[in-house]
Amino acid sequence: NISDIRPVIRQLDEAAINRIAAGEVVERPASAVKELVENAIDAGARRITVEIADGGKTLIRVTDDGCGISGPDLPLALSRHATSKIDGSDLLNIHTFGFRGEALPSLGAVGRLTIQSRPQGEEGAEIAVAGGRMDPVKPAALNGGTVVTLRDLFYATPARLKFLRTDRAEGQAITDVIKRLAMAEPFIAFTLRDASGDGAGRDVFRVQAEQGDLFDALHGRLSEVLGREFAENALPIDATREGLHLTGFAALPTYSRGSPVAQYLFVNGRPVRDKLLIGALRGAYHDFLSRDRHPAAALFIDCDPTLVDVNVHPAKSEVRFRDPGLARGLIVSALRHALAEAGHRASTTVAG
Ligand code: ADP
Ligand code: MG
Repeated sequence: NISDIRPVIRQLDEAAINRIAAGEVVERPASAVKELVENAIDAGARRITVEIADGGKTLIRVTDDGCGISGPDLPLALSRHATSKIDGSDLLNIHTFGFRGEALPSLGAVGRLTIQSRPQGEEGAEIAVAGGRMDPVKPAALNGGTVVTLRDLFYATPARLKFLRTDRAEGQAITDVIKRLAMAEPFIAFTLRDASGDGAGRDVFRVQAEQGDLFDALHGRLSEVLGREFAENALPIDATREGLHLTGFAALPTYSRGSPVAQYLFVNGRPVRDKLLIGALRGAYHDFLSRDRHPAAALFIDCDPTLVDVNVHPAKSEVRFRDPGLARGLIVSALRHALAEAGHRASTTVAG
């Protein structure tokens, strides 16, 4: 009888909606770290400290010295699609990492989340949420800035928990996220501390804020993150074409790697993993490297936000250029030019 199977259409409650969205935004501890550190960067922090335990599975805590959130706004920060970063009228003009207003409510749906915050000249306050249920705001004592603590990620979704890899592998993914963001933000100091077990924990990664102009700061930061050998073998890249500006460093072919481990691409300050750009990087080295070698580079494309759509995927690591051929052409020609010049210099030095 068909009437027995007639479905009932129901509006899902907010907690269920947040849990579903969390499936897209928060895949693993590293994605939570990415969202929280991006929030700290958006808040104008100069110093960001990340503490984790057990690969981020039991604890992720991000402390920043940014602008903070006023106590009365804390419930709003945890509400879905609530953001201070855009007004919704111009999705093509985005200058911050965040804009969806999804991260905090999603994290609050899949873990035990506490936010403590204190904007300059205000009293500190905190709010806690677990399994989508929010406690009332209460006073908290802290320095200026924000401390977000996420415990027991996926405790309410055991299926997700099972898909996580070892603490070591999840910890490595977190380190990778922080390194990428640290490359994008050389003027911010970053610390990653592993607080597993007893004791004060151990620093896994630590960089001081770089000084000087952006190019020097970037070179200094790349030297810290990718190693001095990369920095010493890297050619500076600086080229512009039709509104796309390409900067960064590309390593000499002699510094190539057996796997594509040292390829870092950023679009408007955002770390991206984009097939088009990776392909362009490979293409640029085509005449300079054998097939089994992979170039090393950290490249930054900056352009008017209207020329690139970062709204492609919730995790936002993919982008879509309005003119993909232009982005590809810029990378290929700028790198080929730099590599040819370096080769020319090397051969004339040998000859002379
Ligand atoms: P989005 O980053 O897309 O705006 P989030 O859910 O990540 O969405 O954050 C919601 C809001 O909470 C942000 O728009 C911001 O106003 C505030 N917020 C989050 N983290 C911080 C932080 N570390 N410092 C200051 N404000 C924050
Ligand atoms: Mg955010």
